Amino acid sequence: MSQRIEIPATTARAVTLRAGQRMRIVNVQGKQVADFVAFNAADLDESLSTLHTLVSLQRLFPTTGDRLRTNRRRPMVEITRDDTGRHDMLISACDPWRYELDFGVTGHRNCSDNFLEVLAPWARARHQLPQPVNFFQHMRYVDGRAEWLESLAKPGDVVELRALIDLVAAVSACPMDLNPISGFRVSDLALELE
Ligand SMILES: [Zn+2]
Repeated sequence: MSQRIEIPATTARAVTLRAGQRMRIVNVQGKQVADFVAFNAADLDESLSTLHTLVSLQRLFPTTGDRLRTNRRRPMVEITRDDTGRHDMLISACDPWRYELDFGVTGHRNCSDNFLEVLAPWARARHQLPQPVNFFQHMRYVDGRAEWLESLAKPGDVVELRALIDLVAAVSACPMDLNPISGFRVSDLALELE
């Protein structure tokens, strides 16, 4: 029996997962970047760490079979299905200043505020938000230069995650519509929990 949670474009949702539970992130219309953060439900100071994950994987881009690590290097989530095959771990979540300073737009919705909103029941402050895994985000780093490309996610593509410990997790349908990552537009995601 699975539970489906819609994530309307530009918004986020938070869920709790018990160890062993699976969560699928569904790219409903395709090309939509999904920022993902997670915390150890028993100690919120232990959270997803993309940089510790990078050291563990010895690769920039995570995929099926990879285990995402915490800031204490503990495996917290395993990727058990990856329809798209390209995700990013280096780009910071968008925040009010990304839009204000880099694009001259004030009041734009953003992943950082989205996470603060949906994680309010767990009292997370901005400095406590981990660097996200940017599922479905297509980046290239040839010769150390960062290139923002359009997501390779097709409509209906899924990333499935299995919780390895009890988690608080949040997913934001990234509101970035001013660069190519989600095709210069934003669309819906959905979560399926089982
Ligand atoms: Zn974003």
